[in-house]
Amino acid sequence: TGIYSSVHQLSDHLKVPTDPDLDIASFVLSQFPHPHDAELKLALIDSTTKQQLTYAQLYRSIRSLAGGLYRLGVRKGDVVFLLSPNSLLYPTICIAIFSIGAILSPANPINTPSEIAKQVVDSGAKLAISAPEELHKFERIQVPTIVTSHQSKNNGSISIEELIECGNPHELPEIKIKQSDTAAILYSSGTTGTSKGVVLTHSNLITTARLVRWYAEGTSSQKDIFLGFIPIFHIYGLGFFGFGLFCSGITTVLMQRYDFQEMVKAIEVHKVNNIPAVPPVVLSLVKHCKGNSSLSTVRRIGSGAAPLSKELTEAFRAQFPWVEIRQGYGLTESCGAATVFMSDHEAKAHPGSCGALLPSFSAKVVDIGTGFALPPYKEGELWLKGPTIMKGYLGNEEATNATLDKDGWLKTGDLGYFDEEGFLYIVDRIKELIKHNGYQVAPAELEAMLLSHPNVLDAAVIPVEDEESGQIPMAYVVKASTSQLTEEQVIQFVAAQVAPYKKVRRVEFIDAIPKSAAGKILRKQLILLTQRPIHSK
Ligand code: AMP
Repeated sequence: TGIYSSVHQLSDHLKVPTDPDLDIASFVLSQFPHPHDAELKLALIDSTTKQQLTYAQLYRSIRSLAGGLYRLGVRKGDVVFLLSPNSLLYPTICIAIFSIGAILSPANPINTPSEIAKQVVDSGAKLAISAPEELHKFERIQVPTIVTSHQSKNNGSISIEELIECGNPHELPEIKIKQSDTAAILYSSGTTGTSKGVVLTHSNLITTARLVRWYAEGTSSQKDIFLGFIPIFHIYGLGFFGFGLFCSGITTVLMQRYDFQEMVKAIEVHKVNNIPAVPPVVLSLVKHCKGNSSLSTVRRIGSGAAPLSKELTEAFRAQFPWVEIRQGYGLTESCGAATVFMSDHEAKAHPGSCGALLPSFSAKVVDIGTGFALPPYKEGELWLKGPTIMKGYLGNEEATNATLDKDGWLKTGDLGYFDEEGFLYIVDRIKELIKHNGYQVAPAELEAMLLSHPNVLDAAVIPVEDEESGQIPMAYVVKASTSQLTEEQVIQFVAAQVAPYKKVRRVEFIDAIPKSAAGKILRKQLILLTQRPIHSK
C-alpha cells in the first residue's frame, strides 16, 4: 500500500487516554512521582544559579501560578505570549497556562521588537510574559506585560514569582478543557512563505508527552540526568523540558542558553548522562573536546532539528566510543519527533538514518511528479500521519490545505526514503526553509525585507551549506542600475531588522532572479549557481 507504520507498540499504560475531557497539564501532573518521592526527587536544577526544584515544589508552583494567572484575569482560550530564555520558571509557566485552558505562544528571546509584535498580533495574545531583560522590546506593542522575575528595574510590572507567591489554586473554578482544545501556538514557516502559527491541541501535547515517556522508559532510567540547553520556545525543547520528561521522574539541569564552555562545565558538575542536542553542538564536541575526559559521564547524545551527517556521526563515535549518538527527526507541525532510534545497535546498523517511526505514526514517501506512494529505497516527499499532527495554521486555511491533505497527511516538504526495515533517511529539503543552527529562517521573510530597500529591485534568499551551522542564508539581489549599493550594506540592512540567526551572511548581485512562468523563484537554479567552481565567479 506504500504506507509505513511504526514497528513499535505502546503498552497500555502509555496509550493516549480516550477521555475527551483531559488537558496536558492534568495529564503531566498525574504522572509526577508519588507525593512522598516528589518531596525529594529533583525535577530541575538551574546550571547558572544552582537553584533546585523538587517535583513537589514544581507541582505547587504550577498550581499557585495557575491561581495567580486566573486572578490576573487570564481565561480559557486566551493566548499568552512568552519571551524568555530557559529558566526554572519556564516549565512552571507553560504548564500553569495549559492548566487553565489558556494558550501558550512562545518565541525566541533574541527576536527583535518587530518580530515580536508580529507574533503577538498574529496569535492575538492577551498577555505577554517577558524575561526582565527583554521587557523593553514591548514598548511599542499593544499588549499588557508581566515579567518572569524581578530585577532592580522592572517598570513596576507584576512578576511570575509574585503570582506564584500570592496565587491560590483553591480560588480556581472548575475549567472544562477538552483534548481537542488548542494548547499552544508555535511559529513555523512550513513549506513556503513566512512564519505561521502552528495550532497544537491538548491531545497533540498529551501524545507527545506519552511518546517522550515511552522513549525515556525504553532508553533511560530515573537516575539519568538530562542537560537542557535546547530552547523551550522550540518544540524540541518544549516536548522534552517544558513538560515531557516530568512524566518519567527525570532530573534535568537547565541551561539558560547554549554555551560550549558552560555545557562542558555543567556536564562535569552535575554528572550529566543524557543530552538532547543539535548537529552544531555535536560538531563542537568533536572539534573542541579532543583528548579530555569531559564527557566521561555521558551515555547518550540525541541529535535533531537538522541533518546530522554520517561523517560527523562517525567522527563522534571514534572520539567518544562510550557515548551513544542517535539522530531523530521531527517538525513543529508534528509536535516534535516522528522518528527515533531505540538502541545504539539500531543506530550503528543504519548509518545516516534518523531512526524509525515512533508508535502511532504512519508515513508515506510520495513521488513529487506522480503523487504515488513509493516503496523502500525510493526517494520522495515524506508525508506523516498520527495523533501529534497539528490542527492547522492559525487563521490560514490556504496554507493549512496546502500542508494537510483531506485524509490528515502532513506534507513535510522533506525529501527522503525508508529502507526495508523501516528506517528513515532524509536526503534533502524541497521546501524553502533554511535551518541555521537548527533555527528556522524563512526566505520569504528576508526577501520581503530586501524588497523594501529603495535600491533593491528584486531578491531571492537561499541556503548555503555551512559546516559549523548547517546552513547560512544567502541573498541574490538585483539592484537599481544607478545604485552604488554594496554587499556589506545589504547585509547590514537586514541585520538591523532581524534576530541574529536570521542574518543574511552572504550577498551576490545578479542581473535577474530566475523565475518560473508562474513567477516562482527557481531556488534550485540559484543553489546550483552557488556551487559552481570558485574560479568562474
Ligand atoms: P522545526 O519545525 O523547526 O522543527 O523544523 C523542522 C524541519 O527541520 C524538518 O522539516 C526538516 O527539514 C528539519 N529537520 C529536523 N530534523 C531533521 C533531521 N534529523 N534530519 C534532517 N532534517 C531535519
